[in-house]
Amino acid sequence: MKILVLNCGSSSLKYQLINMEDESVLAKGLCERIGIENSRIKHEGKGKYENICNMKDHKDAIKMVIDALLNPDYGVIKSIDEVNAVGHRVVHGGEFFSESVIVTEEVKKSLEECVELAPLHNPANILGINVCEELLKGKPQVAVFDTAFHQTMPEKAYLYAIPYEYYEKYKIRRYGFHGTSHRYISQRLSEIINKPLEELKVITCHLGNGASVCAIKNGKSVDTSMGFTPLEGLVMGTRSGDLDPAIIPYLCEKENMSVKEVEKVLNSKSGVLGVSCVSSDFRDIEDAVSKGDKKAESALELFYYRVAKYIGSYAAAMNGVDAIIFTAGLGENSPETRQNICNYLNYLGVQIDDQKNNCRGKETIISTENSKTSVYCIPTNEELVIARDTKCLLDK
Ligand code: AMP
Repeated sequence: MKILVLNCGSSSLKYQLINMEDESVLAKGLCERIGIENSRIKHEGKGKYENICNMKDHKDAIKMVIDALLNPDYGVIKSIDEVNAVGHRVVHGGEFFSESVIVTEEVKKSLEECVELAPLHNPANILGINVCEELLKGKPQVAVFDTAFHQTMPEKAYLYAIPYEYYEKYKIRRYGFHGTSHRYISQRLSEIINKPLEELKVITCHLGNGASVCAIKNGKSVDTSMGFTPLEGLVMGTRSGDLDPAIIPYLCEKENMSVKEVEKVLNSKSGVLGVSCVSSDFRDIEDAVSKGDKKAESALELFYYRVAKYIGSYAAAMNGVDAIIFTAGLGENSPETRQNICNYLNYLGVQIDDQKNNCRGKETIISTENSKTSVYCIPTNEELVIARDTKCLLDK
């Protein structure tokens, strides 16, 4: 069985074709600048291929992907019939979806209702589904949601302390994101240590350009740092994370900005970029710190401190923690980040083994044998989860 995994963004599309017999990636690639001039596809299959071409919309992009997969030189399939199904990453499933689903007309109606909750993401995801229904007629489509894993959170974790009627009327609550990633790495941990998740308290730290922490008790998400939107929680590449909501009207007044403009500042000009005034990329900031840049140092300190505070609060929420896992661009590749966060965790009995921690992008236990809480680096694989969920639903 071969499954095409699609992650449609507003102007980009990432894809993988996965052979479910051995879970190998047959081909992968990226379409960028969809709807903008100089759009391009980067494809890796039997060979590598890159082309600047005109993709005016997602339909053009998905056609390019299909052409690349079928190409005799760098493609990997002879006929589109070899693709059994398509798995779509969908950012927001609201309160409708607590697990992945086969797309039906009813599912599509619910997805439309979630657009209000994720206006930047869900429209592109829905577009991807619609285009695939047209271009890959009759192939099952599966939606896998970033929010679904967190639907197990108890009310005390997902309610905001604002008038209850706003939850009832507008569904304002914590949803959480990166659920596919938190789910995958906690399951991998359970396989690595050969212990059922139902017996574990785990804190997963997805630290990439977007970043979130999740408390997973007995295999269920009981709290997570992203909220109603992916803006809440940790300090991120360009997002502020938690802040006093009173800052928003104050800034509107002082800077003569609209609420929308302030929201944009908080989403795209804040985080480590905003504090460091250097970059949203942690590698650039680490470089600047090594040259003595004080603001860059403050940005990193703020980032580590916030992650450590969340780990502490989730250890409290679960009344303990057995393992902490780091993943995503920064969590997988930056020993300094893991070390600096873990420096705050002596009270949990965390001891990091410097040699083991000196790893990048591979599954490793990075704590010492005597560490009371184990700490791991586990690379995430959201595409594989999407493909597995798709296969699982088809098998049913
Ligand atoms: P992601 O969103 O998961 O792709 O993560 C992207 C972020 O990971 C980048 O913005 C970098 O800040 C960070 N990153 C990736 N590789 C490294 C590295 N070797 N050292 C430090 N940070 C890294």
